[in-house]
Amino acid sequence: MTLTQSLRRSFAALAGGLLLAIAAHAAHAAAPQVKTQAPGYYRMMLGDFEVTALLDGTRVFDVKFLTAKAADLQPMLSRQFVRIDEIDGAVSGFVVNTGAKLILVDTGTGGFWGGNALGHLVANLKKAGYRPEQVDIVLLTHLHADHVGGLSTSKGTRVFPRAVVHTAKADSDFWLSERIAQQAPREAQEFFSLARSSAKPYIAAKKWSPFVGTDEIVAGVTPYPIAGHTPGHTGYVFTSKGQTMLVWGDLVHAAAVQMERPDIGVVFDIDGPTAIKTRQDLLADLAEKGTLVAGEHMPFPSLGRLRKEGAGFVWLPVPYKARP
Ligand SMILES: [Zn+2]
Repeated sequence: MTLTQSLRRSFAALAGGLLLAIAAHAAHAAAPQVKTQAPGYYRMMLGDFEVTALLDGTRVFDVKFLTAKAADLQPMLSRQFVRIDEIDGAVSGFVVNTGAKLILVDTGTGGFWGGNALGHLVANLKKAGYRPEQVDIVLLTHLHADHVGGLSTSKGTRVFPRAVVHTAKADSDFWLSERIAQQAPREAQEFFSLARSSAKPYIAAKKWSPFVGTDEIVAGVTPYPIAGHTPGHTGYVFTSKGQTMLVWGDLVHAAAVQMERPDIGVVFDIDGPTAIKTRQDLLADLAEKGTLVAGEHMPFPSLGRLRKEGAGFVWLPVPYKARP
């Protein structure tokens, strides 16, 4: 081997070694992506009441559920940089600690509906520092699967063993009726059967307590009928030290569409025209008063206020605060 050949060889070996070293270094420097999200709860105070938003999950809200043509929605969604096949569909519930009672409004899907993306409300309740057995009262806005599904386990036991469950009698009578279920279309059957199986262990334990009217449930907590979506669809008003929050259930399903166009409904509305009128009137009232809103399907943490703009509204999410 000549000197030149030998030098070439050693340089080649050196270069190869360097490349390996660089590759190893690069592999070291790039930490694996974590791909999990922050815990699904957010806390704030309402007077003396502690409010914790609990995420059941998020997934895409299918545009086919809206009573509007996809093509008509495109310009409005483009202005918000929302793709029509990626409309945000959050599912949340809210736990309010009044100091005297621990109250949960809506229970998420319980994993009975919407696949793995949903069904995490109880896990997030625990992460937020509460145990299901501490819940004194469950308030249901209505008995659709994404609100009542988390109430009972697949074995038919109560997830909230100490809780008394309140919901409007009109919703209870409707969704728990086998006679009405039999007359309903096939695709609606699972809504009826899930409402029945969720309620069953609470009825058996005499912890199912439907209400009529708007009498205060406990101090500072009052039902607020929001007509149209289901026969007894009801929000709940929480008031403490002059501060007010309305948990509005399914007044709005797809914020990206229905804030700007409250006249667009969803196919799940039992009484579509009433649901639209109710939404238009209530959004206007809430915007005027600056009422804090907890909206089960608003982008998490699903807490905010409204500002009127043109014929529609703008959602103003609460600012993140490191301490409640
Ligand atoms: Zn819903």
